[in-house]
Amino acid sequence: MTEQESETRRADLSERLGRVRRRIAEATAAAGRSEEPELIVVTKFFPADDVRHLAALGVRQVGENRDQEAGAKAEESTDLPLRWHFIGQLQTNKAKSVVKYADVVQSVDRPQLVAALGKAMRREHERRAENGLPARGALEVLVQVDLRTPEQAAADEQDRPEQGRAATLGRGGASPADVAALASLIEAEEQLTLGGVMAVAPLGSDPVAAFGRLVEISHALQREHPGAVVVSAGMSQDLEAAVAAGATHLRIGSDVLGPRPALR
Ligand SMILES: *Cc1c(COP(=O)(O)O)cnc(C)c1O
Repeated sequence: MTEQESETRRADLSERLGRVRRRIAEATAAAGRSEEPELIVVTKFFPADDVRHLAALGVRQVGENRDQEAGAKAEESTDLPLRWHFIGQLQTNKAKSVVKYADVVQSVDRPQLVAALGKAMRREHERRAENGLPARGALEVLVQVDLRTPEQAAADEQDRPEQGRAATLGRGGASPADVAALASLIEAEEQLTLGGVMAVAPLGSDPVAAFGRLVEISHALQREHPGAVVVSAGMSQDLEAAVAAGATHLRIGSDVLGPRPALR
């Protein structure tokens, strides 16, 4: 990439980011909230150069959903003051890799994954000590909640799972009934800390209602775990609904970075 191309890209990102920030400010005011939710820019499918531009533009939190891609990008960005959120479906055998760069794992939805992350963090602790690296704090994790109604879940089963949005976006999630038990398992792991909840609005449903359910689940969770205040909700299409419902964190990709390249 030439210097000129790089400057053009930064200007483009700056403009889109400005627009998203204005939307967040307007939605916050419209909801009568005193504080804006935190912005996580989802950089999946886009190069480390873009991450660097975003950091220069004041972005402090980024989100990624594929371990290999995220690990490589984080490696190129160690000099940047960024907080890395892992937001994708995570296989237990990737836990060891993810804890090397992620500050937060937002997509924890089953007991096996809690155990794998706990074990990976214990090993990471040892690895750092052995190599004389500074110790890291506990890994923050969010419980991903499946907000589909039973009818929606049944309808989705009919779809071919390898097609459509469900294949790449927000698949997974614990049933609301399982959130409390998962939260207890997380709290029992010394190297994990429970940050709160995360969800994707189900396709074809009213995001305001869906995020409202997520906030109710969060309130119930906070009665047992007062520190678990994070409600991660809202993407490019539905950030206003998420702000209105009370999200504390927004995950915005395409409206900042532009349309994603076609899936491979
Ligand atoms: C990609 C992704 C986002 C961002 O979506 P956009 O529509 O590009 O803003 C948010 N959350 C999750 C879980 C994602 O996978």
